[in-house]
Amino acid sequence: MSPEAFDKSAVEKALRAVVDPATNKDVVTLGMVKHIAVFEGAIRIVLELSPHAASLQEQLRSTVDRAVRQAAAVAHAKIETLEIDFVAPKVDAPTTAPAAATSAASIQGEAGNPLPNVKKIIAVGAGKGGVGKSTIAVNLAVGLARMGHSVGLLDADIYGPSTPTMLGMDDVGTKSKGQMLLPFELHGIKAMTIGKLVDPDKALVWRGPMAHGAFKQLATQTEWGELDYLIIDLPPGTGDVALTMSQLLPVAGAVVVCTPQRVAQDDARRAVRMFQNLGVEVLGVVENMSFFTAPDGKEYDLFGRGGAEIMAQTMGLPFLGSIPIHIALRENSDSGKPLDNWKNPTMGASLDALCQRIEAQVKLAEMAGRTDRPTLTISP
Ligand code: ADP
Repeated sequence: MSPEAFDKSAVEKALRAVVDPATNKDVVTLGMVKHIAVFEGAIRIVLELSPHAASLQEQLRSTVDRAVRQAAAVAHAKIETLEIDFVAPKVDAPTTAPAAATSAASIQGEAGNPLPNVKKIIAVGAGKGGVGKSTIAVNLAVGLARMGHSVGLLDADIYGPSTPTMLGMDDVGTKSKGQMLLPFELHGIKAMTIGKLVDPDKALVWRGPMAHGAFKQLATQTEWGELDYLIIDLPPGTGDVALTMSQLLPVAGAVVVCTPQRVAQDDARRAVRMFQNLGVEVLGVVENMSFFTAPDGKEYDLFGRGGAEIMAQTMGLPFLGSIPIHIALRENSDSGKPLDNWKNPTMGASLDALCQRIEAQVKLAEMAGRTDRPTLTISP
C-alpha cells in the first residue's frame, strides 16, 4: 500500500481500536475524534477530552499513537509526523467578535467569492517558523503600498502572530462596526491580525475547526474595502489554515519563504507541495537571511547563500530574490516601523525588487489563467 492510501478513513479505522474500558466504546463512537487530517505522511488528530479527564491525556495519547502506527505498519505506509492534540469540549471563543467556531464542513462547498472588492490575494507561507515569513509578508504589504497600491495584510499565523509588534500596534485595540471588524490603518496599509482576537497564550488550541473558523472570520468579517492586494501571512508548515484559505478565497498565488540551509529547504519543499496539492499557484521562492553584510562591507554566507535558489530551480519554480540579514530589518520589525526599512537604500532596493518580481509573477499567473478558485485535493 502506498503512503497516500493510508488516508483519513484508515486513521479513523485505527482509532476504532482505541476503546474506553469504562464504557467499552471506542473513541470514534464516543464522538471524541474532532478532526483528522492526513497530508503526505503527516497526520494530525484532534481529540476532545474534558479537563476533568486531563490525567488520562498522556495515556490516551500513547494508546492512539500506538494504534495509528501499528495500522500504518500493517499497511506498509510511512508516517512522517503524527500529531495528537486535545481540545476541551468548550473552548473559549474570542471575546471581541462573534461565531468563531465554524466547522470545516461548513466551509467546504461554499460558493462565490466572499471578498469581491479585493483584486488579488497573495499568501505568504514557509516550511517552518523563524525563517522571516512575517517579515517578508509585512514588507511585501508595505512595499506594494509604497508603489501606490491599496493593500491589506491579514496576519493568520495562529501559532505566533507577529504583526502586532512588527506594525507597532501592540497598544491599539480592535474596533468594530456592527458584525464587521475595522482593520488597523497604519504605515499606508490596512491590517488585521489574529493576535488581536485571541489571547496568545491560548493560541495553540486553535486547531482544526477553531482554526477554520478563526481564519474565516478574520478574512471575511474585516471591513477591507477596495483593495488591490490582500497579503495573507499564513502559519508556518502545512495545516488547517492553508486548507481553509484555499477553499474559501480565490488566491492568486503563494510565496514561499526559505532560508538557505538544507534543513530549511526540506521544510520549504513540503510547503510548496502542500500549496500545489491545494491547487494554489506557487508564485515562487524568496531566500531570506541569504547572507550577512558586515559593517566593513564584507559579505558572509552564514547559511549557504543560494540554497533556496537552487531549491526553486530544482522544483521548477521562479526565484523571487534574496533578502540578506540586515540588523536594521530586525530592529525596524521589533520597533514596529517597517517604512524605515526604505531609509537604507540597499535594503529598500532589494525589498522593491522583491515586490516587483512578485507582482510580475501574479500577472503571469493571471495571464496563464492559473488563479481560478482551486479544487480540494486532500482529505480535510
Ligand atoms: P517567521 O514569520 O518565519 O516566524 P519572522 O518574520 O517573525 O519569522 O522573523 C523571525 C525573526 O528574524 C524576527 O526577529 C525578524 O525581525 C528577524 N528577521 C527576519 N528576517 C530578517 C533579515 N533578513 N535580517 C534580519 N533579521 C531578520
